[in-house]
Amino acid sequence: MSPVPAAGRRHRVVVVGAGFGGLAATKELAELPVDVVLLDARNHHTFQPLLYQVATAGLDGDDVCYAVRGIVSRQRNAEVRLGRVASVDLDGRRLDLDDGGSLTYDHLILAAGAVTNDFGISGVAEHAFGMKSLADASAIRDHVLTQFELADADPTLIDRGALTVVIAGGGPTGVELAGGMIELFSMVLVKDFPHLDVARARVVLVEATDHLLAAFHPKLSETAKRTLESRGVEVLTETAVAEVTAESVRFADGRVIPTATMIWAAGVKANPIGATLGVELTKGGRVAVADDLSLPGHPEVFVVGDLAASRSTDGAVLAQVAPVAMQGAAHAARQIGAQLAGRPTKAFRYLDKGSMATIGRRRAVAELPGGIRLTGTIGWLSWLALHLYMLIGFRNRLNVLVNWAWNYVTYDRASRIVTGPREAP
Ligand SMILES: Cc1cc2nc3c(=O)[nH]c(=O)nc-3n(C[C@H](O)[C@H](O)[C@H](O)COP(=O)(O)OP(=O)(O)OC[C@H]3O[C@@H](n4cnc5c(N)ncnc54)[C@H](O)[C@@H]3O)c2cc1C
Repeated sequence: MSPVPAAGRRHRVVVVGAGFGGLAATKELAELPVDVVLLDARNHHTFQPLLYQVATAGLDGDDVCYAVRGIVSRQRNAEVRLGRVASVDLDGRRLDLDDGGSLTYDHLILAAGAVTNDFGISGVAEHAFGMKSLADASAIRDHVLTQFELADADPTLIDRGALTVVIAGGGPTGVELAGGMIELFSMVLVKDFPHLDVARARVVLVEATDHLLAAFHPKLSETAKRTLESRGVEVLTETAVAEVTAESVRFADGRVIPTATMIWAAGVKANPIGATLGVELTKGGRVAVADDLSLPGHPEVFVVGDLAASRSTDGAVLAQVAPVAMQGAAHAARQIGAQLAGRPTKAFRYLDKGSMATIGRRRAVAELPGGIRLTGTIGWLSWLALHLYMLIGFRNRLNVLVNWAWNYVTYDRASRIVTGPREAP
């Protein structure tokens, strides 16, 4: 049954999260006779696929992020609220915020995404950098550049791992980060630090299984590994991280690598909001949803994107990737329209358009529907075109295009400013 709003106000749909899912849902709700409240803990949308370029000094933060109010300001039935949801009261149809405030809804779309999963490994939360937010990516860039400055002043720090970056996780994020980091070292920092033995800088990519890019065809996994190694990345497969400290990483087989920089790209788990619903959760804390993406027993609540365990038609749980979030969110918004019009809801059908990962300059792998696989320059150009297309806002697209062209032609990375902590006055 479709919920009825209190007398005197329009039907209110609250969308939690202005990520890929939340923005797609908000847009899809534009034509419905509802008021939309788009709530996010941050004031910006983050284009996570390009965060690794911020971490490796290729792009600035505001090239890959966009103020949410700027995106939504022209949608007449939508408003933005800044706030962090602490818990959801399903029976009261209310969101409780961490500042003590609350927000009621008639329909709710939860698109709060995922958080870094440290799998309970000792020291990861304390000493490793995450790769989920602009703050994470900027912190990595600041830290790596600062390590080079410190080693320039005191080269003995190299033996203690100042110039060693260890990246855990051989999925697309780890592969892209490793490729971008080695280019930063070998093309840019080598010129910036003429007195430093930059050849001793290391990028080590660690993967627990026996191959990189698990979601890709084995041939593409092999291509990615070979390309990374040819560029100087040390790829350690079948290697599990056992402990991270401020100075080193220890693997399950006992090996230890001294490092000042451990980056955790080994996995995510669903946003803890899911656990406050008091409903069934699946692997990784993802919320089990009905086939129309609503919450079983609560047709007025939809859960989409990384937070949800939505399924393909063959029953497999869909991956935590942007197209799943966008298509699922648009579907949820359409089902709200159906409910308001008194029509039955439909099952979600995901249209898989393939996966891509870039490995640095003129190298990428792409797996497209119909068994089509792209590698090398063609794969890379396709990757560039898709990511430019997906970015929000003409200014961001133009900035990114100019930056990429500049980086490509000059072998430079313009975004090497260490902002660091606020200085004392
Ligand atoms: C480094 C990296 C690279 C990636 N690369 C790719 C790629 O190349 N291709 C691809 O398809 N996918 C990629 N992904 C995955 C993709 O980004 C996610 O699948 C997608 O962002 C999920 O969309 P979402 O809307 O569920 O969540 P998100 O886009 O993560 O958005 C969640 C939003 O919820 C907000 N939020 C969280 N908690 C709260 C709260 N308590 N209260 C209020 N707001 C809250 C957050 O601030 C955020 O804005 C990548 C992910 C990462 C981390």
